[in-house]
Amino acid sequence: MKQNEVQSVTQKIEALRREIDRHNHQYYVLNAPLVSDAEYDRMMNELAALEDAHPDLITPYSPTQRVGAAPLSAFGSVRHAVVMRSLGNAFEADDVAAFDRRNSEALQAAGLMPPGGQVEYMAELKFDGLAVSLRYERGLLVQAATRGDGQTGEDITANVRTVRSVPLRLQGDDIPEVLEVRGEMLMTHQDFERLNEQQRQRREKVFVNPRNAAAGSLRQLDPRITATRPLRFFAYGWGEIRLRQASGELDLFNQEAGDAAMPRDTHAGMLDWFASLGLPVNDLRRRVRGVEGLLAYYEEISAQRATLQFEIDGLVYKVDSLEAQSVLGYVARAPRYAVAHKFPAQEENTVVLDIDVQVGRTGALTPVARLKPVFVGGVTVTNATLHNEDEIRRKGIYIGDTVVVRRAGDVIPEIVASIAELRPADARPFHMPQSCPVCGSAVERLEDEAATRCTGGLFCAAQRKQSLTHAAGRKALDIEGLGEKLVDQLVESGRVKSLADLFTLNVLELAAYERMGQKSAENLVKAIDKARKPELGRLLFALGIRHVGETTARDLALHFGSIEAIMQADEEALLAVRDVGPVVAGSVVRFFGEPHNREIIQALQQAGVEPVAEAAPQGGALPLAGKTLVLTGTLPNWSRDEATRHIMAAGGKVSGSVSRKTAYVVAGEEAGSKLEKARTLGVTILDEDGLKALLAQE
Ligand code: NAD
Repeated sequence: MKQNEVQSVTQKIEALRREIDRHNHQYYVLNAPLVSDAEYDRMMNELAALEDAHPDLITPYSPTQRVGAAPLSAFGSVRHAVVMRSLGNAFEADDVAAFDRRNSEALQAAGLMPPGGQVEYMAELKFDGLAVSLRYERGLLVQAATRGDGQTGEDITANVRTVRSVPLRLQGDDIPEVLEVRGEMLMTHQDFERLNEQQRQRREKVFVNPRNAAAGSLRQLDPRITATRPLRFFAYGWGEIRLRQASGELDLFNQEAGDAAMPRDTHAGMLDWFASLGLPVNDLRRRVRGVEGLLAYYEEISAQRATLQFEIDGLVYKVDSLEAQSVLGYVARAPRYAVAHKFPAQEENTVVLDIDVQVGRTGALTPVARLKPVFVGGVTVTNATLHNEDEIRRKGIYIGDTVVVRRAGDVIPEIVASIAELRPADARPFHMPQSCPVCGSAVERLEDEAATRCTGGLFCAAQRKQSLTHAAGRKALDIEGLGEKLVDQLVESGRVKSLADLFTLNVLELAAYERMGQKSAENLVKAIDKARKPELGRLLFALGIRHVGETTARDLALHFGSIEAIMQADEEALLAVRDVGPVVAGSVVRFFGEPHNREIIQALQQAGVEPVAEAAPQGGALPLAGKTLVLTGTLPNWSRDEATRHIMAAGGKVSGSVSRKTAYVVAGEEAGSKLEKARTLGVTILDEDGLKALLAQE
């Protein structure tokens, strides 16, 4: 190699080492990673490959030779009696095959396996939490430590004592004099979500993922905080072990020293022993043979991954025989007898290029992050919904930020966090637009709602399908034959842009649409014609004004008598209507205040739509005027809708729950708790005939 090539490799190696050291510190010490695990693994692999090619450049200070990072000085330190190592990685089936081949060859050479034999493995989940070592002396938990740099960890004894799944005392008769158990501390998905929700409510830091939450919770300077955090522990390995022999003498077992006196002779046996001592060991572990066995286990667990209660980032395969393990031994930072088979990354970092706003069928404005394309969870992700304005504030996302994108299983990709430390100077915060990006109508955000909405419901192209389907519905204009599928076609062909356009459709053109014949087109035109003279309440309901349901629409119609009067009414006038409160009044005023909506009303009038006044109550002459009824169970002849319509036509209201103010409960077959409640409150109970008799009164 030429002199300048050596120089450039040395520089490259040095740069990678510095970069990886920085990320180790961020991740292990500060619990605030700046790059995704996948990105970190890529750097580490690149460094390992360079060092492989240039072994003379390896130094003991290279991150490939060491684990983790030095512990945080705020904690007391614990020197591990047996070092805590990391694991080598396998990403592809080929890497696993190579691992198996190396083991086979070495074990055959050592005479521990016959030629053509298969290596026996203990296959386990690779828990995505943080490694801890628990020291039990005479069965009592005396010390707990993080892995730290492998030699020295942080003393987290007080914190670990608060974790319920860690026994403070071992069970059984087989208690060793000393047992250092190694395992993973983690948090379940459910507990993680709950913790983050609490953190949000208290306006405290939310965690990016369960691993980060587990690490943050365990490395608390105040154990009272750890005590409130739902941590779990699974044992998978050990450090120092001293058994009390029958003679009463102590026997030191130290695997690294290759001692022969072992409590069990396989890894599987050791884990069973741990379980018998009352230590939590995960049930999904399995003994398998050869590379086929390992890969079958991989397939099986991959398929279950999304349904597991906690996060795993891969599987760990360990040669099962302890004798074989000691023959295989160790390389710098990891055992040779084990490997971590990593799953494809579910989290990657990328950049938010922009935040667009989409308008949904119901008029809700949804901000969507446009991302620098990133391959995560098996697909290339280019955008992710940010749900609403609050979500963006909560996650602190600026346009230009580096963010963590997660895609687990088939779940929609999500931005889990923004990395504020990497924010460029020209990053800018997002603001919701003041007008709808699709139709230009004003937008509104009600106090107790997360969503911002477009108020141009009748006009907005994004809402057309939804608003037309709603308007054609039975409780609105009741246009039979105008279903969702046809509405889709009419809107997509551009023929119908607003409610008013419906009234200009003719038989000839309708017959040309999919699944429409001459006859159905004729029927539809007739139905549309009929809808030209709707009751005012139905028309109002058809307009899809937020918070104006069927009953309110009818109340408004009865009160004002004409669409013009309603359009002119201010909030005060609206509040005078029975059962209309500030929310409804505000919504009606905003709706008609939007010029686009007024234009559509005008267009409807031009298309010949003339609402007819509701039968006004004549001085309380309607039999159910002012009365509230509740329907329950199935009536013999009338559907719920029919009964409701009859009751409303008689001036009554239908409510969903029974109270002292309920005038009657109309009960049919299989009436439930409402009937019970009516009985308790002494409300009059009617059957269908009883209701009909009431309606017939003048
Ligand atoms: P590792 O996480 O790849 O593997 C070793 C660890 O696996 C052990 O220490 C143990 O904690 C854990 N483990 C889980 N289940 C196990 C089981 N059944 N048996 C044995 N061990 C089990 O290696 P590492 O050295 O702890 O960390 C390196 C990894 O950490 C990287 O690959 C990366 O994912 C992440 N990391 C990320 C950053 C970053 O900046 N994003 C920085 C440093 C490390």
